[in-house]
This record gives sequence, structure tokens and C-alpha cells, in this order.
Amino acid sequence: MTTPLYGRMMDVPLTVPSLLAHASRHFGTTEIVSKRIEGDVHRYTYRDCEKRAKQLAQALIALGVETGERIGTLAWNGYRHLEAYYGTAGCGAVCHTINPRLFPDQIAYIVNHADDRYVLFDITFAPLVDVLAPQCPNVRGWVALTDDVHMPRMSTAASSYEALLAQQDGAFDWPPIDERSASSLCYTSGTTGNPKGALYSHRSTVLHALAASLPDAVGLSARDCVLPAVPMFHVNAWGTPYAAPLTGTKLVMPGKDLDGKSLYELIETERVTCTLGVPTVWLGLLRFVEEAGVRFSSLKRTVVGGSALPPAMLRMFRDGYGVEAIHGWGMTEMSPLGTLSTLNREQTQRPPDEQLRLREKQGHAFYGIDMKIVGEDGRELPWNGTTFGDLHVRGPWVIDRYYRNDASPLVDGWFPTGDVATIDQDGFMRITDRSKDLIKSGGEWISSIDIENIAIGHPGVAEAACIACPHPKWAQRPLLVVVKQPGNDVSREALLRFYEGKVAKWWIPDDVVFVDELPHTATGKLHKLKLRELFRDHVLPSARDGRN
Ligand code: AMP
Repeated sequence: MTTPLYGRMMDVPLTVPSLLAHASRHFGTTEIVSKRIEGDVHRYTYRDCEKRAKQLAQALIALGVETGERIGTLAWNGYRHLEAYYGTAGCGAVCHTINPRLFPDQIAYIVNHADDRYVLFDITFAPLVDVLAPQCPNVRGWVALTDDVHMPRMSTAASSYEALLAQQDGAFDWPPIDERSASSLCYTSGTTGNPKGALYSHRSTVLHALAASLPDAVGLSARDCVLPAVPMFHVNAWGTPYAAPLTGTKLVMPGKDLDGKSLYELIETERVTCTLGVPTVWLGLLRFVEEAGVRFSSLKRTVVGGSALPPAMLRMFRDGYGVEAIHGWGMTEMSPLGTLSTLNREQTQRPPDEQLRLREKQGHAFYGIDMKIVGEDGRELPWNGTTFGDLHVRGPWVIDRYYRNDASPLVDGWFPTGDVATIDQDGFMRITDRSKDLIKSGGEWISSIDIENIAIGHPGVAEAACIACPHPKWAQRPLLVVVKQPGNDVSREALLRFYEGKVAKWWIPDDVVFVDELPHTATGKLHKLKLRELFRDHVLPSARDGRN
């Protein structure tokens, strides 16, 4: 083997703090606007943000946090959470964003599995922290993302973030960091069993942000103003907190208020041009603008993903409000972006109906992501738009291994997504099904297995299956299908009450149907696909009468 002729270019590492340093230097006066938990609107600039992120890095070092240690966050989208992203990764630690919507036991599992040293939390989550703290003995300190004046009453000994920052001056140089070292950690609850951690590196994060910023991806520029409605605890708000400083885009953080009215007002007052979020959030926004009879004066496009974008919503955005809805697909294991539904020059010349059909799909891969569909024998299937198979992906921001688990999830070097899809001649991918049987309600996973396990714990239940049922507001809601124990006439109401206190309220099934027997596969597993077919036309009471 001959030695390759190496290029003679600098080997500058791609690091997360370099993104904020760039924004601070070149877009120093560009604003970051946040709706605060305290109730007011906070404004400052990228320059201010970098200084405070450096103060946080200094504070963490002073607290003894070492390279590679995890710092948890339980927080909404806001400037302090953004500082946490950069202050942690910038001192060599790892920002572990925790989904506060999970059940406390799951959160405690995640905090302990990640072995978080400190946890930074928004004051809305103070009661949750009081539940978690006794279960997480290795956490050295809980820090409320507020000032001394707004400190909540708690049983846990917590300190205030502002007091922590006040002890530091921000005179700090970002230290050299190996680009392959970890920068952030996000657990997925999207599979069976315990949640698994996707540990992103500085390099993967920067490359993902670069690709996501491209015009045919999310498409951000220094003339844009972006509002991520997708939470920063959900796969890093799809990379927006990294892509916005990279491009110098004004950043608007909605805090905890994701209802239609609050979002509309923020979009209008801040002249937002681009948003990102799950269909459920946009349903609320569209309902509000329709009822209020108002229009968008600045919004140009919205990236919709996490669950399938309903074609009617795409049309409503475009025809009703002149907003381009871009369908996107990805997953926690992919940082998360994989495909986006934007058209090329030739496709925009096709008849409008055909263009619409393309845009309804989950979209084409953008540079960095390679995808294929494979059959049961592992062989690649054709891109003809009708043949469907298991969707596999690979790329520099796709997971190689889960955190603290050495077993490789890869198949021949590709990551099996668990989604089933077709790919057409244009390279547009369409998800036809999920091989996993999870339920996604309002962009959040509900584990069907957990729901079934609880049902089976009831003395009146012989067998139970939980499947997703379509829902106009939440995209999907759980339906429980039950075979009764002979001689026990358990009621629907009694079963639903049985869930209280065992799972988060929104995990409780919307309906229970009793059957004589459940369909099974040849290996004796519940035949979920068949069940979904059987109950395809089932209308949930909450869907019928418009309740949540
Ligand atoms: P998560 O890891 O929570 O982001 O969930 C990822 C999963 O959500 C994917 O594997 C898909 O099953 C589903 N998903 C994400 N985006 C879409 C989409 N646009 N259409 C259909 N399913 C989607």
C-alpha cells in the first residue's frame, strides 16, 4: 500500500463553542429573544450569550466538573438553556437534555444512567425535581435557571443559576477540544425497554448544523428569524440552537407557551420568518389564526416533522396563509435530520398536483445522509415508489453505538431506523409504517408495551394490546384492546382509573375496547399490524367530541 498524498490544510477541530464564538464575533448584535418562565420577554445578543456561556463554563469548572462529565437540563426553550448548551460543551462537559414530559421514574432512570453531575432546571420543574432528587443520589447539585428573587420553594436544596454566574467574570478562552469528544446527550424513549442514549460529538453536531442550514434543508441565513417550537429537550430542537449561531439567524425562544395564540403573537412581534415543530403544535396555531381571522405578515416557511405532516395541513399553510410547509423526517439517533421535502429546479416545473404529491412525502436525503430500503433478506430494494422495506441510514451524524452499550445496533454498517418506507425515482422517501409499535401523541412517544403491562396487572384482564389510533389533534392516541378474564366483568372506566398514578396522565389510553380474542403472529406475538387494520376506522371519544 502506498502512503496517500495528504492535503496540506489545517486540521482545525469542528467544535460546538466555535459556533457561538463565530456568532459573537460576526453577528454580535443579532438578537436572541426569549419568552421567560418568569412571565416577561428577555432580549440580548449573541455577544451577550457568549459572555454568559463562558461564565457558566467557568462556574462549572469551579464546581469541579471534569471533561466528559454530564450536566443535565430540564428546561424549555430559552436563553439560559442556550447558555447551558454552550457553557457545558464549551468546557468539555456534556449537555444532557432531559425530556420533562416523561414519567418521573423514567427521568430518574435517565439521570442515573447518564450519571449527571449537576442538573439545571426551569422553575416550572421545581416540583418534579423534588420528586427526582431523592432517587438521584449521585447528582451533586440542582440549579434553578432563575435569579435569587424567583427561587421556588422546594424540599430539595437548590441554588440559583444567576448567583452561580455572578461569581464569574466571563474572561475565559474556550479550551481546545477534540472534535470527536461528546458534546451532548439525548435519550430516546422510542424503543422497547429502557430509554437509550444518543451521544453526539462536537464534530457530528457541527456537520449536522452546517447541513441543516443549507437552502434545501431548513435554509437559514443572517436575514432570517427562526422560532424553534420543537423543544430543546427534543433532539436539540432539531439542531436550531447550533444552526442559528452558525448562520447568524435571529433566534426567538417561545418558552413553555406553545399554544396557537402565544406562538402567533411572538411570530408577529418578532417578525419570525421560519419555524420548526411537530404537527400538533401547528394544528393549534392554524386553529388560532383561522378563528381570529388573522394572517402572517413575516412567516415564510415552517419545517414540520416528528410525525407525518398531514397533507391537509400542508395545503392549509400554503393556500390559506402563503406559508411553505416543509415535511421533514429524522430521529434521535440521527441528530435528528435525515430528509426534507424540498423540490429541485426540474420538479418545480411539473404539474401542481405532482409537486404536491412529492412534498407530502418525508423527502429526499440531504448531503451527509445516505439511505436505502432493504427486504427481509437484507437485500437493497428498488427506488420505484411502491416497493417498501426497512429504512436504513448512514452518515457522520448517525449513531454508531448507544451510550454505555457496546453492542452495535448497525447492520452491515447501516443504522436500521425501525421505519418502513418506499423511495421513489426522485429519491423521495415516504414512511409507510413503523416496525416499532409505539404511539406518537403530539410528537411524544408513548410505549405501547408499558401500557399493556399495566393493563395486564389488573385482575380483570387476561390479555391486552395497545395500538395507535388516529387523532385530529394529537396525530395519534392510545387505544387499549382487552380480553377479559373469564368471570370478571371489569368496566372501561375501572380500567382507565387503574392507570392513574402509574403513568403520566397523557399516557392513559383514550378508549378501551373489549374483544373475545387478540390476533397473534406465528411466533405467538401480538399481531399489531392486523390489530391496527381491524381498528383503522375506530373513532376515539376524544376525537369525536373534540376533547383533548
Ligand atoms: P424521535 O427519535 O423521537 O425523534 O422519533 C423518531 C421517529 O419518529 C422516526 O423513526 C419515525 O418513526 C417518526 N417520525 C419522525 N418524523 C416523521 C415524519 N415526518 N413522518 C412520519 N414519522 C416520522
